[in-house]
Amino acid sequence: MSKVKSGRYPVLVVGAGPIGLTAALALRHLGLPAIVIEAEPKDRLRPGSRAIYFHKATLQHLEDIFPGLGYTFTKHGVVWPVKRTLFRGKEVYVKRYPSPDPKALPPFTSLPQVEAEKFLYQACLDAGVEFIWGTPVKDVRVDEQGVTVITESNEQWQCDYVIAADGARSTVRQSVGIEMEGPRTKDYFVVVDVREDETDPLPLERIFHYQHPAVDGRNVLYVPFAGGWRIDLQLLEGDDPEEFGSVEGVKKWLPKVMHPKYADRITWVSTYRFYQVVAKSFTDAHCRVLLAGEAAHLFAPFGARGMNSGVPDAIVAAKAIHVALHASTEEEAKEAIAVAAEERRIAARYNRDCAGIALEHIQGSSPMMNMKREVAASLAPILPRLGKWLDEGPYGPKSGPPQLSTKY
Ligand SMILES: Cc1cc2nc3c(=O)[nH]c(=O)nc-3n(C[C@H](O)[C@H](O)[C@H](O)COP(=O)(O)OP(=O)(O)OC[C@H]3O[C@@H](n4cnc5c(N)ncnc54)[C@H](O)[C@@H]3O)c2cc1C
Repeated sequence: MSKVKSGRYPVLVVGAGPIGLTAALALRHLGLPAIVIEAEPKDRLRPGSRAIYFHKATLQHLEDIFPGLGYTFTKHGVVWPVKRTLFRGKEVYVKRYPSPDPKALPPFTSLPQVEAEKFLYQACLDAGVEFIWGTPVKDVRVDEQGVTVITESNEQWQCDYVIAADGARSTVRQSVGIEMEGPRTKDYFVVVDVREDETDPLPLERIFHYQHPAVDGRNVLYVPFAGGWRIDLQLLEGDDPEEFGSVEGVKKWLPKVMHPKYADRITWVSTYRFYQVVAKSFTDAHCRVLLAGEAAHLFAPFGARGMNSGVPDAIVAAKAIHVALHASTEEEAKEAIAVAAEERRIAARYNRDCAGIALEHIQGSSPMMNMKREVAASLAPILPRLGKWLDEGPYGPKSGPPQLSTKY
């Protein structure tokens, strides 16, 4: 039997991942009540190895909606002063950065997503966000008047707007009939996290090896984060993901590319073929639901555009809902939601394309791309800009999505 919750809410957030938490904080910042409905229980264990790299723009966004939060991330993260790129074992590029100004936000910070989520969650508690844990949403019905959110326990919540931050398999997105479009990478990537040896830590350097000779020419990326290292091995066509991606498999190849002690310090191993997909629309036909984060897009992590773009999705959604709730006509309200949805869809498509450029740069196997990398590596000692070009591979273009002229 269904239980209709009494009252009607201006807005509900579905999903307490980092993007749902950001959306809730942004709503509170605008003076709106924020209720987050989350499928999992409060004491759940979050998957260990996802985002680590947070851009300055993200830190600034968090600072704007909850003063101090960007600096909390910074205090607990690390900034590496050196980045290096090697080609078949030979260094082709190195860049050293001055220490960031301790009084300003750094250009980025690197810390595990589980830590970042703890800080976001604490900020939500401090801001008065309400959480409904252990309550999976199973359906969402939308009409001109508003939204009914139906949970698996058959509770019905009535509201004006929903921010769908329920992740890659978003039930909300599926309920309102929005599809994702885009490809999936053909090759597999093995992503390994190891704990740092605090008594004898490695220097903080981000290192990318094109065609590492110790692992038969597979690409290897090393990224430091607070307390450990992320090592990303790119498998070659025909490689068995199980052979390289099982913990036993990792213990065989890791000591060839890092000090052997790290094979006993593995904290997480995942094998991915990355999706490069964006929702066809970020809102429903009635402009009542806004998608944010992985409910709206999935990218390969090169360039770290996933959570970094989910944060502005959430903030733009909250601002648009604030405008819509105060609009004097239904058309004005719809327009606010539609404009925000389109702005973030354009940004997501741009970010997906950038992640695609990064993938092509490091893994593209066309004769032209192979030749470009070979020529760049051999001429890098005399033409440093070619070494720089190789170094940009794992990031893709530096730029952010186009700035649109919306009021958000
Ligand atoms: C290997 C890897 C490395 C990455 N590195 C970076 C990086 O360095 N920088 C970066 O910016 N991004 C990175 N990302 C991407 C980043 O991890 C994601 O963008 C981010 O986790 C998305 O957060 P989210 O809140 O949208 O989704 P999620 O974290 O998946 O959260 C969704 C939430 O919704 C809940 N939920 C699901 N279904 C329901 C339902 N029916 N009802 C209620 N609740 C529901 C879930 O339980 C969960 O709590 C990386 C990803 C991977 C895989």
